[in-house]
Amino acid sequence: LPEQEAFDIEYWDLEEAKLQRMPKPKPLAGRVALITGGAGGIGLATARRLMDEGACVVLCDIDHDALHEAEAGLKKQYGNDVVSSCWVDVTREDAVIASFRDAAWKFGGLDICISNAGIASASPVDQTSLATWQKNMDILSTGYFLVARQTFQLLKAQGIGGSIVFIGSKNALAASPGAAAYCTAKAAELHLARCLALEGAPAGIRVNVVNPDAVLRGSRIWQGEWAQQRAEQYKTSTDELETIYRERSLLKRSVFPEDVAEAVAFFASERAAKSTGNIINVDAGNAAAFTR
Ligand code: NAD
Repeated sequence: LPEQEAFDIEYWDLEEAKLQRMPKPKPLAGRVALITGGAGGIGLATARRLMDEGACVVLCDIDHDALHEAEAGLKKQYGNDVVSSCWVDVTREDAVIASFRDAAWKFGGLDICISNAGIASASPVDQTSLATWQKNMDILSTGYFLVARQTFQLLKAQGIGGSIVFIGSKNALAASPGAAAYCTAKAAELHLARCLALEGAPAGIRVNVVNPDAVLRGSRIWQGEWAQQRAEQYKTSTDELETIYRERSLLKRSVFPEDVAEAVAFFASERAAKSTGNIINVDAGNAAAFTR
């Protein structure tokens, strides 16, 4: 500053300084987000992240008990008026339509849809039943289509655009042993997102994908046969898996639900206004190079 301005308070722009100090509005204030598979794991962590940024959230899940527990927890933390829940089986067309109607009714519309519901089944391809194959396709591909179709209809009717985020998987891009049904369904989900990005762009609807690597903590997928099979693959116990995944990553860090939620919040918000049809890998570097 010129000497005179530095010492003469009349030259200081205090109004501007006051504005700088005022709390900034939260990035998702006034936005409504629906999250499938929101009762636990990555879905629930995402709900918290979006609510921290000011969004109202509708949790949808097939698991009644977990859904009500998650809703009660969020209401305690954020208040009764900003969270709601709705039972849904994403493979059932009628249930998906009803959940969107409930969400729109409860909060007066929708701006963000996080399609996250999932399962993971583990079996070598020659031992995979048709029922297992179809279940993966039904939930991870058809379910994502049904949810996206309803989101498109609602967002187009509102006419103000919006954001869809799919929770994909590193397995959408690379095969994993004993997981053909899961990998194929996740690859279809990824390509559906690209098709949706193309069709949604004229209406201002952005569609992006977050691909996590193994997220063991908080995930129910890792409490069943999936974890057992991975442990056999690495000739170790399920307790050691988190260490193995951490050590094989470039950054030598575990991925947690909150890390995935951070990338989702970015895509959901205006910070990603120029991104559609894109992927963020949340994998501590695993997609970049094989370390073992
Ligand atoms: P999770 O099991 O903790 O959560 C999945 C949720 O989806 C559950 O609450 C479950 O009840 C719900 N769900 C299952 N079938 C449903 C259906 N038909 N309709 C509605 N809801 C249904 O698992 P998570 O790890 O939080 O997985 C969330 C997403 O992340 C999944 O799409 C999964 O494929 C993906 N993902 C997970 C990992 C990981 O290592 N945990 C890695 C890559 C991708």
